[in-house]
This record gives sequence, structure tokens and C-alpha cells, in this order.
Amino acid sequence: MLCPTCEHPKSDVLETRASGDGIRRRRQCQACGERFTTHERIDRKTPLIIKKDGTREPFDRDKVLAGLRIACRKRPISARHLEEAASRVETLIAAKGTAEVPAAEVGNVVLNQLKSMDLVGYLRFASVYQEVQSADDFLELLQPWVGAREGDGDG
Ligand SMILES: [Zn+2]
Repeated sequence: MLCPTCEHPKSDVLETRASGDGIRRRRQCQACGERFTTHERIDRKTPLIIKKDGTREPFDRDKVLAGLRIACRKRPISARHLEEAASRVETLIAAKGTAEVPAAEVGNVVLNQLKSMDLVGYLRFASVYQEVQSADDFLELLQPWVGAREGDGDG
């Protein structure tokens, strides 16, 4: 960070403060003594999503929220929880720091959020999203709740 007055590269941090979506630092130039403020924040630029057919579209938090709402319809999950989950998905996708993310990865992030929220919502989303076709697929999805499977091979 160059001093705005003399462009000296080194400054002392006088004060650090959290502010809303980031951190503010009050600095003093080691050369000329000029005081200035810098503001660090998380880069919220979200990547493009690569869809199954190869087309790209911007990440859309509202679409994630809509998906969560459908998955948790008539479930005891508050609107606020769904909003928070959608925000977490957005943050996690942005944190990947890549220009493009396959839609499948977004789906997995959403599933992980549902996994900790609601079993029924999780299964609903997974059955649509992961194209669950057999009972075995469902049992696999249930793993986080039922633990290890028992009684192999008595078919
Ligand atoms: Zn300076």
C-alpha cells in the first residue's frame, strides 16, 4: 500500500477496526508521516456457473434461495435460515476464487447446507439434483443420519 502523498511503500498501522463487511486500518507513512486509511474486504465477485450443457451464466443467489425454498417447502425451517444458507453458499462459491465453477459443485455446496438443516429438504434436493434412481442411492444419501450400514450380503 503506497502512501498517497509520497508513494513510500511502508506504513505503520495505528489502528485496526472491523467495519461491516471488512477491516479498516488507520496507517501512518514511515517516510513523510502522512496518515491515511485502508479498507480490506472479502472479494464478493462470484464466478460464472458452467451448466450441464456447457453454457455459462452468472451465479445467482436468488436461484439458490429459490431451490432451498422448494426443497424445504412445508418444513419447519424459517425464512431467515434459508436466507442465511443462501448467503453461505454465495460466500463459499466466491471463496473458491476461480472464474468459473461447474453447476455440480454449486449443487454440492447447497446439499451440504441442507444436510445440516433438514433431512427431508436434503433428500428432496438430492433426489432432483443428483438424479437419484434407486433405493441404494437413497440409502447412500441417508448415510449422514443412519451411520454405517449393517448386514451386507443377505440378499
Ligand atoms: Zn508518505
